[in-house]
Amino acid sequence: MKLIDPIVAFHSELQALRRNIHAHPELCYEEQRTADVVAEKLTQWDIPVLRGMGVTGVVGIIKRGTSNRAIGLRADMDALPVQESNTFAHRSTIDGKMHACGHDGHTAMLLGAARHLALHGTFDGTVYVIFQPAEEGGAGARRMIEDGLFERCPMQSVYGMHNWPGQAVGTFGVTPGPMMASSNEFEVIIKGKGAHAAQPHKGIDPIMVAVQIAQGWQTIVSRNKSPLDAGVLSITQIHSGSTTNVIPDEATLVGTVRTFTIEVLDLMEQRMRDVATHTAAAYDATIEFKFKRNYPPLINHPAETAFAVDVLRQMVGEDGVNASVEPTMGSEDFAFMLQALPGCYVFIGNGEGDHRDMGHGLGPCNLHNPSYDFNDDLLPIGASYWVNLAEAALPCR
Ligand SMILES: [Zn+2]
Ligand SMILES: [Zn+2]
Repeated sequence: MKLIDPIVAFHSELQALRRNIHAHPELCYEEQRTADVVAEKLTQWDIPVLRGMGVTGVVGIIKRGTSNRAIGLRADMDALPVQESNTFAHRSTIDGKMHACGHDGHTAMLLGAARHLALHGTFDGTVYVIFQPAEEGGAGARRMIEDGLFERCPMQSVYGMHNWPGQAVGTFGVTPGPMMASSNEFEVIIKGKGAHAAQPHKGIDPIMVAVQIAQGWQTIVSRNKSPLDAGVLSITQIHSGSTTNVIPDEATLVGTVRTFTIEVLDLMEQRMRDVATHTAAAYDATIEFKFKRNYPPLINHPAETAFAVDVLRQMVGEDGVNASVEPTMGSEDFAFMLQALPGCYVFIGNGEGDHRDMGHGLGPCNLHNPSYDFNDDLLPIGASYWVNLAEAALPCR
């Protein structure tokens, strides 16, 4: 593995920085302290800073030479509402909040790259280092775009990276096309007519309608979309009634839909609405149908993915890069940036969890687990990737 020496030499400072952020987690759009730390570091390295896009977002602007070409490198800064099980020294100091997705590490890796590019970077153009808020459900990426990110910081491509537990340290995973799913939620309220449970003929039972709709919806996955297209429809809540001898007025179905394309999502939403409406009508019930699209599918652009794979292979070798990694049904709001601009998102292996300090929780080192911790061995690897990528994208002429 070919890492960049000055970044390796800066490892202990980056680790201290990462652990400092880990100890002070902040949730969606509350990343004030984290943004201050990021801006302070960038300023210390003479990097001009833009603040306020996406509420707490920070962008550092590293410019060299005369070229108009520009690239964006993006990290996320927010933590999760999780009670940390780890008791080691850098554990969360805030009850109920934790960096359980490694965004502390993503922030530190990008800071390490920014420092190197500002001090020693060999490139011609502009590197925008983008620190976004609210990845965990708050669509911070979209908020930054709405606040003019790509107008104020014009760039030709944008890149993202996430640590991936269970994948070996020093390896990367990526694939062109869909890599993470769209995330959507629904709530359907079935309105019937309450009655005595011993006199069902005097009412309209919404529970029977809910059951029919739940069954009918499963045929959307099996009968309507192509078997080659991925799609998940999970009903995760059914609510109705409050006692044994009353047929209630209403029943509610709540759940999530995941797809890798907008076309399949359009199809599933439309069929869910049709099946629910007509099933309810068949039993004289009515429905209220709410469907909310949260994050779109994350779709890597082929040319930028091939470019990133090339940069990675030069760094970690042929075997270190799985260029057709299996996509995951999880979701990620970097998808919004890839809808706006060409680019690529990669997974960086976080290992099996044996890197964790004494005093870690007994659970697995998985994303969103209270026993998770970011692997500090990744700091120079991720930072070196960012630098190599930027320098390759903006070569000196
Ligand atoms: Zn997460
Ligand atoms: Zn995450």
